[in-house]
Amino acid sequence: MIALARKYRPKQFADLIVQTHVAAALRGAVAAGRVAHGYLFAGPRGVGKTTAARILAMALNCERRDAAGVAGEPCGACESCTRIWTGAANLDVVELDAASNRGVDDARDLRERAMYAASAEGRHKVYIVDEAHMLTREAWNALLKILEEPPRGVVFVFATTEPQKIAQSAAPILSRLQRFDFRRIGPHAITDRLKQVLAAEGLGADDDALRLIAKSADGGMRDGLSILDQVLSFGAGPVTAQRVRDVLGLIPDEMYGDLLRLVAERDAKAVFPLVERLVDAGADLGEFVAGAGEVLRAVLLVGLEGTPEGLTEGMLALIERYRSLLPPPDVVRLLAVLSEMETQLRTGGSARLAVELLLLRWAMMGRTVELEAVIRALGGEPGMRPGKGDAPAVLRDAAVRSAAHPSPAVSPAVPPAVPPPEKGPLSLDRLRALWPRIVEDARVKSPLLGALLQTTEIAEVDGTTLAIRLLDTNPVHLEGLERQRDAVAQVVARYTAEPIRIRLEGAARGDRHAARPARMTEEGVRADRLTALRARDPSLNTAIEALDLELLE
Ligand SMILES: [Zn+2]
Repeated sequence: MIALARKYRPKQFADLIVQTHVAAALRGAVAAGRVAHGYLFAGPRGVGKTTAARILAMALNCERRDAAGVAGEPCGACESCTRIWTGAANLDVVELDAASNRGVDDARDLRERAMYAASAEGRHKVYIVDEAHMLTREAWNALLKILEEPPRGVVFVFATTEPQKIAQSAAPILSRLQRFDFRRIGPHAITDRLKQVLAAEGLGADDDALRLIAKSADGGMRDGLSILDQVLSFGAGPVTAQRVRDVLGLIPDEMYGDLLRLVAERDAKAVFPLVERLVDAGADLGEFVAGAGEVLRAVLLVGLEGTPEGLTEGMLALIERYRSLLPPPDVVRLLAVLSEMETQLRTGGSARLAVELLLLRWAMMGRTVELEAVIRALGGEPGMRPGKGDAPAVLRDAAVRSAAHPSPAVSPAVPPAVPPPEKGPLSLDRLRALWPRIVEDARVKSPLLGALLQTTEIAEVDGTTLAIRLLDTNPVHLEGLERQRDAVAQVVARYTAEPIRIRLEGAARGDRHAARPARMTEEGVRADRLTALRARDPSLNTAIEALDLELLE
């Protein structure tokens, strides 16, 4: 049995899924007779880099090129195409793996071989150097000499997963290469392709099974097909999600369901039994934590009216069941705890204890309660004095977070302590001084926006562009803010004389020293805001006292 990844390897540019931009450019170059002497194919593993190089070799040497009516496309079936595609005793394509051939001697050898050029008159010879970032500086120097005076009919394709390393060790050669960036293949594209392959093989599979394979393939088509091969080799009949889980040793959805339940219902006592079951089942705890992060991210996405990709039906049903108990501000905080504990989870001595601590912190975390909801629950209009002891039990021990403070409109009895924003010049100092107030305004507009802006600072003002820097490294926060960029611009524009644009900067990873002073300031700001809030709305004070609540922020 031929491995599926090999059997279904594309034979034409048109078969290169997702990399259509590369396929179109290469096809055009072949059709116009303008193929370069050197290419750099950059991108993750298994997305079609060497396949594209082989198709390029086929197109350059095809005996019946353009036969299908598409200029520059190889026929995929002639003797030359077949020879190149199968890799049988091939003189026109030379594949080298830089990870194993990396000495200067190999480069010299390569140079000598390249001088002999193509196997026959009018033919092209394509050298494919895989893992090109592993080549030594000496090897690159030798290659640079070849590319300075390229022999006729010779094309070099350097494939790499780490183009930045080539930029460091062989910058001069980069200017002689035409670069193409290959995209990661998304889960939808992988499942679609797996379906086609299964149909061609006369086999069936559950949609959930294919989703699990696509997820494990992590952006690589070749890996996707290899996993399918593995699953097919265990047992017969249709491919089910259970079969995929068994073969790949995946953690079942039910475990994540139990996790969502214990976090949503704050059932801390369920933490130890859950971790015990995971350990008993031989699950990889690191994988479980990563999976938990993905599930929470999906809950956040659903809460913000997005659609998570690549989840099984079972997982989507679980998320649907618990989403109302896990509103976006809560999930953002859960994810913040995860990113805070990341190092500990990765490097800590006891993985089990670290996971237990993470789950306990999640299960015990206070919930975001909108202040207006607290006041409503106290049975009074905002601004009125609440009665004692008649609050619903659900709020009794909730840690109240002032997600929104009553605006003057809701609380007519209390005059606003802070004047409405004044428009002024767009200067760095002014906006930095105003930033806590602006964040507060954003919070009134949307508690989530306020939460996202909580750990930010103003990096710079450049013309009419305001650069905002995130002080934590959680990618979810950056993504969240990216989506709300217009909303941020609107809030800030209330304070500026001219309309502005927002640019976002991620925190530098591991840059603790830079973040520390900002965090100190943030704490100060938080305390100031709390005092201001309590002074502005006496009902908040009363509510806190009446319910014996802890005000977190
Ligand atoms: Zn052909």
